[in-house]
Amino acid sequence: MESGRSSFEGFLSSSLAEIERDGLLRSLRRLSRGPAARVISEGRELVNFSSNDYLGLASHPALVEAAMHEQAGSGASRLVCGTLDAHARLEDEIAAFKRTDAALAFSSGYAAAMGTIPAICSKNDVIILDKLSHACLVDAAKLSGAVLRVFPHNDVGRLESHLKWAATSHPRARVLVVMESVYSMDGDLGPLAEVVELKERHGAWLFLDEAHGVGVLGERGRGLVEQLGLEERVEVQMGTLGKALGSHGAYIAGTRALRDFLLNRARSFIYSTAPPPMVAASAAKAVEIVGGAEGAERREALWRNIRALETALGGPQLSSAIVPIICGGESHAVLAAADLLQKGFLVPAIRYPTVARGKARLRVTLSANHSPEEVSALAAALNLPAA
Ligand SMILES: *Cc1c(COP(=O)(O)O)cnc(C)c1O
Repeated sequence: MESGRSSFEGFLSSSLAEIERDGLLRSLRRLSRGPAARVISEGRELVNFSSNDYLGLASHPALVEAAMHEQAGSGASRLVCGTLDAHARLEDEIAAFKRTDAALAFSSGYAAAMGTIPAICSKNDVIILDKLSHACLVDAAKLSGAVLRVFPHNDVGRLESHLKWAATSHPRARVLVVMESVYSMDGDLGPLAEVVELKERHGAWLFLDEAHGVGVLGERGRGLVEQLGLEERVEVQMGTLGKALGSHGAYIAGTRALRDFLLNRARSFIYSTAPPPMVAASAAKAVEIVGGAEGAERREALWRNIRALETALGGPQLSSAIVPIICGGESHAVLAAADLLQKGFLVPAIRYPTVARGKARLRVTLSANHSPEEVSALAAALNLPAA
């Protein structure tokens, strides 16, 4: 049909053709897990530098063992069917680890953001976000219906002008600042100390996403809030259980009132089946490990690898386990990733719309499970000019 309504399959294939023409087509690679930080893809063993399993806990026998003592399914939302021991234990572990009064577990980080941000802010309120905020934070802010303001990445001056603007134009509004501790595609840190000062000075609240900070930063792995001694000064702390924690799910940690409020108002918590008890049990075990002596050892191994790659790259200091290698053009990044793949390294090319157009990159993520030899082999394979 030339005019009028086109067929559904026609719509799908022309959309895919357009994505492909832009060099942005994505597809799924089939993998099976190998030993340590290795994966098997199409019969080949690859060293995996693409996972957020920073402490190597995803394959930890204690997490698997913990899961084996629980049911597969939870049966219903926790408000409908009652809350199971596994979920209560997980939240107790998180609150003890994060040193907060309470915590509430969600099915994923995406669900935690989508439930929490619109519970706190609605129409007539103001949400101010960093430009590089994760998609789930942006989607949650949009869903809330609040007035949105975005500041250039880590630009506290612009954040302050937005805060001043909000105070005069929306004097009765709730104002929520949303930021991350470690930015997921750049690996740099948010200016948390400055933001805490500003939001306090202007009577705003702070939502901090520690998805890539928890387990990695801070003496005990409690994230950037611990590293900077700001644990008492952030209203809403979010973290995920599927990255350094090696399991799945997410949490919001804070006061008892925050938890009670969210379990009454966060729609992704209320209207969704509780996470599988098997998963809650493995996540609880992960939290216990990360906060203990083994977690500290794994964190040390991770940071040894980070420092080793930093030296090999001869570039600026790394502040997290995420190392972006900017290529620029979309196809350049794809070719660089293909070259590494051929050399036995799985490193993803990250393109628009995950990052801005023309800022395509290789995104290397390090793990405690990488051996020093694997890290130096990667550095050599990156073919970088000598420092
Ligand atoms: C991964 C990620 C999320 C989403 O967490 P999931 O548990 O994977 O849904 C949220 N925020 C940031 C910064 C992330 O990197």
